[in-house]
Amino acid sequence: MSIDEVAVGVFPPERFESVIPVDRFREFMESVGRARDALEGRAVWNINSTASGGGVAEMLRSLLAYARGAGVDARWVVISGNPEFFSVTKRIHNNLHGAAGDGGELGDGERRVYEDALEPNIEELSGLVRADDVVIVHDPQPAGLIQPLKDLGATVIWRCHVGLDLPNDTARLAWNFLIPYVQPADQYIFSRRAFAWEGLETSKITVVAPSIDAFSPKNQDMDEATVAGILDDAGLIHEARDGSATFVRQDGSPGRVDRKATFHDGGDAPPAGVPLVVQVSRWDRLKDPVGVIQGFADHVAAHTDAHLVMAGPAVEAVSDDPEGAQVLEESHAAWAALSDDLKARVHLATLPMEDGEENAAMVNALQRRANVVVQKSLAEGFGLTVAEAMWKARPVVASRIGGIQDQIVEGVSGVLVSDPTDLAEFGEAVRDLLTDPDRATKMGADAQERVRDEFLGPRQLMQYLKLIAGLIEG
Ligand code: UDP
Repeated sequence: MSIDEVAVGVFPPERFESVIPVDRFREFMESVGRARDALEGRAVWNINSTASGGGVAEMLRSLLAYARGAGVDARWVVISGNPEFFSVTKRIHNNLHGAAGDGGELGDGERRVYEDALEPNIEELSGLVRADDVVIVHDPQPAGLIQPLKDLGATVIWRCHVGLDLPNDTARLAWNFLIPYVQPADQYIFSRRAFAWEGLETSKITVVAPSIDAFSPKNQDMDEATVAGILDDAGLIHEARDGSATFVRQDGSPGRVDRKATFHDGGDAPPAGVPLVVQVSRWDRLKDPVGVIQGFADHVAAHTDAHLVMAGPAVEAVSDDPEGAQVLEESHAAWAALSDDLKARVHLATLPMEDGEENAAMVNALQRRANVVVQKSLAEGFGLTVAEAMWKARPVVASRIGGIQDQIVEGVSGVLVSDPTDLAEFGEAVRDLLTDPDRATKMGADAQERVRDEFLGPRQLMQYLKLIAGLIEG
């Protein structure tokens, strides 16, 4: 089998009544009802390249379940590929962010690798997708499927989750590679206007910002006792605790954190009670883990008693990201080069991924325990981790790039670091928040309201459903 169909849950959209204003909720339910009628008998397929790890998988898992709960036949398939294919697509991903990645080319040879690996996926999809169906193709990996899907008679949307504020020649290399595959789509969706590519018909471009799920194990409410229980059982911090390590699974059933996080050789969990600075992200150079470690070591540690926790997925788990292990190694090397004092203040944790919801509960607890959450990315399509932390009323320090700028209102709902490579500016922003708890609390509260207004699931789902209904009604 080339493609994997991911089991999608069924969540009641009515849940949102408790978190969004009443008029918004009414509008949401009305648009859901209209979309269900328009889509009667049609499936809405989503195609991407991984079922876990990273923001796209995170969003699909919940958005599709709410769509199913609303009576829309939303489905999710993950394509297969070989290691050469994923090296090429990682290169494309890096290039789209304006970065050279492994420095390789995107020429005829890469086109062959890309198209050959997609071939078996096409065959299988043609047995599944019907002429009236709608297909949303996510990101570069499956973009080569767009024309074959059009040939089947489907309505096809290409959804690009990555981008660059000011495109450079490296990004254009990736566009040129992808444009012949992407062009035949009926609609192109970008996370921000600035990400839209030159050369695509502007009338077919829609902007849809991502969103988070307030009820998922990643973002659901969690009291302090449970936060401490989860962190202790996961071995992330051995806090004094009187709570259990429990959470509510997506299907409503009880969950418990049983597995342990792993610290790198010689590393250990932070001691109980210390102030924490936290970054959660995949082990990717564009998340700049080495910069976070150095920025903390040089500009935060000496001025505060805070510790830094950098947490990311167990690297073997993210199948479409061949660079994860290498970047984790580079982060270890940056840690190993610190003085002993600093080594004891910086903690690199990998979180088990066997059970995605357990992993999410760990991230939830860690973000809630953080005094300051950072996202010092060098490039970012949106940066779900920012919205996740804001929803938990955490003050966030993040780079002024990509979709992060749409989330944080500078100085109000977080702090934007204007030069993502400036470690001193980053460190100063973190320090200021650590030493001014009143400002941090106020900023966290404003951050939560910002997410409630702009970045919860109903807004995104409504945009998708309206767009799809418009396309099929012509
Ligand atoms: N994430 C996770 N476990 C980890 C590391 C990351 O669940 O160990 C999640 C994180 O909480 C967020 C997503 O992966 O929901 C990353 O999305 P984001 O948009 O921040 O970045 P991307 O990985 O898509 O570049």
